[in-house]
Amino acid sequence: MKCPDCSYEDSKVVDSRSIHQGISIRRRRECTRPGCGYRYTTYEYILANPVKVIKKSGVREEYDREKLENSFHIACKKRPVPEDNIQQAIHSIEEKISNISNVEIDASRIGELVMDELKKIDGVAFIRYASVYRQFKDVGEFKAQIEDLKK
Ligand SMILES: [Zn+2]
Repeated sequence: MKCPDCSYEDSKVVDSRSIHQGISIRRRRECTRPGCGYRYTTYEYILANPVKVIKKSGVREEYDREKLENSFHIACKKRPVPEDNIQQAIHSIEEKISNISNVEIDASRIGELVMDELKKIDGVAFIRYASVYRQFKDVGEFKAQIEDLKK
């Protein structure tokens, strides 16, 4: 695990607790590079039989939590969104996915779920994600989305 501040590859665990009724572990880590000592949080999850995600091209691939996390991190970059909120959102999406199917799910469906969560977390992050995801065809469509958000 690389330090998000200095990319140093070694860290020590300073706190570790079980969350979500014991299905995951949250760890506080501290970068061990002298002079850095940056503290960050990692999460560990049990991987249940992952569902397959059907992409637009028809290709199926295993659901990948990290990809989902990346989408959130990109959308929330430099936004005042605590990591805990992102993790909660992902947890809630995973619950919804498993309610829809434990075999396979359309990637577009996951995209919609991500947008639902981002809308609740941060308006700017939502617009960022939606503009990439929906590839707004014109400014009008973009404005409509923002108007919708104001409601
Ligand atoms: Zn560091």
